[in-house]
Amino acid sequence: MLSKTGSHLTLPSPSQRDRYDPQYDPLVHATPGHGRDYAPTYWVASAGEAPPDDGAVHADIDADVVIVGSGFTGLAAALFLAREHGIRATVLEANQTAWGCTSRNGGQGQNASGRLYRTQWIARWGLETALKLDAEIRQGFETFSALVNEVACDAQPGGHLYIAHRDKKLPFLQTQARVLRDVFGYDTQMLSRDEVRERFVNDADCHGALLEPLGIGVHPVKLAHGYLRMARALGVKVHTASPVTDISTRDGIHYLTTPGGVVRARAVGFATGGYTSNALHPSLKNKIMPVLSNSLVTRPLTPQEREGAGFKSTTFITDTRTLRFYYRLLPGDRVQIGSRSAITGADAPHPRHLDILVAGLHRKFPALTHVDIDYSWWGWVDVSHDMMPRIMQPDARQSVFYALGYGGNGVSFSAHAGRRMAERIAGKPNRAFDLPIYNSALEFPNVLNAVRSPLFAPFRRIGQRGLYRWYALRDEYL
Ligand SMILES: Cc1cc2nc3c(=O)[nH]c(=O)nc-3n(C[C@H](O)[C@H](O)[C@H](O)COP(=O)(O)OP(=O)(O)OC[C@H]3O[C@@H](n4cnc5c(N)ncnc54)[C@H](O)[C@@H]3O)c2cc1C
Repeated sequence: MLSKTGSHLTLPSPSQRDRYDPQYDPLVHATPGHGRDYAPTYWVASAGEAPPDDGAVHADIDADVVIVGSGFTGLAAALFLAREHGIRATVLEANQTAWGCTSRNGGQGQNASGRLYRTQWIARWGLETALKLDAEIRQGFETFSALVNEVACDAQPGGHLYIAHRDKKLPFLQTQARVLRDVFGYDTQMLSRDEVRERFVNDADCHGALLEPLGIGVHPVKLAHGYLRMARALGVKVHTASPVTDISTRDGIHYLTTPGGVVRARAVGFATGGYTSNALHPSLKNKIMPVLSNSLVTRPLTPQEREGAGFKSTTFITDTRTLRFYYRLLPGDRVQIGSRSAITGADAPHPRHLDILVAGLHRKFPALTHVDIDYSWWGWVDVSHDMMPRIMQPDARQSVFYALGYGGNGVSFSAHAGRRMAERIAGKPNRAFDLPIYNSALEFPNVLNAVRSPLFAPFRRIGQRGLYRWYALRDEYL
């Protein structure tokens, strides 16, 4: 008998296929599409020709292990399954390789995982666990750095500059710098406003900064192309234009329905990030809060404009706003900057969201007021209930795994998350699995963290709207 572990999803109508849908919303649409175009990002435009993939599924196939989603996480999981465990997975992607956040981010590869600070790890889990978690995340950064070294992806090493956007944020940064140095052993530095201006950038918002030594900026699509090439060279199949619309399980075999055929697999790994539909699989229903993030890239700056903005470094930068801005000078002297966006997909194309980003750029860099914006886009990041990712097998009786929940901080850690998910799928134990990001499942995320019942899921966005207003007030005035 066929035991259903997922419900049937509705495909977009054929007339909608292929075009990028700027209003796509994971809480509204059943799949992210079927062979859709990429978002109009600078990265896609500048990555060069994509390496070949295996095209759409066009018949029923047997696959051993299926990974759903071809972003950094899915490709890394498939790569490490092949490289370290001799398992040649099949990746199923609804649209095109790296179509989700992986082709839309700021390319800031941080020594981090999720959105909590190390001080928050200590407060939440105690010092001993925080130290072990740090060792794991640091190893994750090494996994990422090693892959970056294997791929021509315009890498910009130089760490992470964390700017205090108001004087009152300096004590917070000083505490972080001290804990990072004294407890975790990182060579952090606090810099004055003048030192930041002399060595890095003339950001009018800056009141001082924390410099973290680890951090690599990358061209995310070039990096993803590298993951794809390396994985396929080891026998991984990557089927694009193959949205998984239904999953059922019989006698331990999973049947994944795509428009072109059913894929049978002994194990399934979900790497669907913020593009996870609530109908995809019961283990992921209402477990991720998809949140939009905005990004733009300017035209190349003239030498005078670069001088006016005071860019002396390509180290990537974030600021201390809760609705933070993150930016860097790219190779070729364009500036990429990102921040918050709309609450719903339907509202995402409204120009006021881009206006907020442009106003942030101008406030930081009055010298760039007349610089054209060449690219603007947005994407859905995957926020978990506690702002930390989970790499889990949620039910030991089912060969179903997931790796997601980076909260907009997954460029780097997705490589290691994919590697750890590969270990789990291959049945290899690891002491790291005792850590909270590996030993507890995703829960229903509630932005107010008050009402935990999934019945309240539709109301989460009302809470998010209220929180954004509060954060904006607190960031700028209180
Ligand atoms: C604007 C923006 C800026 C960001 N900046 C940074 C940054 O500077 N640094 C940082 O660390 N992080 C950043 N992030 C977050 C980062 O991009 C992500 O954490 C990372 O790319 C996650 O990769 P992923 O593979 O887990 O998910 P994704 O890249 O989102 O991939 C998920 C894939 O799953 C596919 N999928 C979903 N459902 C199905 C289905 N039913 N069938 C088949 N396929 C399916 C989707 O089509 C998608 O391609 C940013 C994100 C955005 C949107």
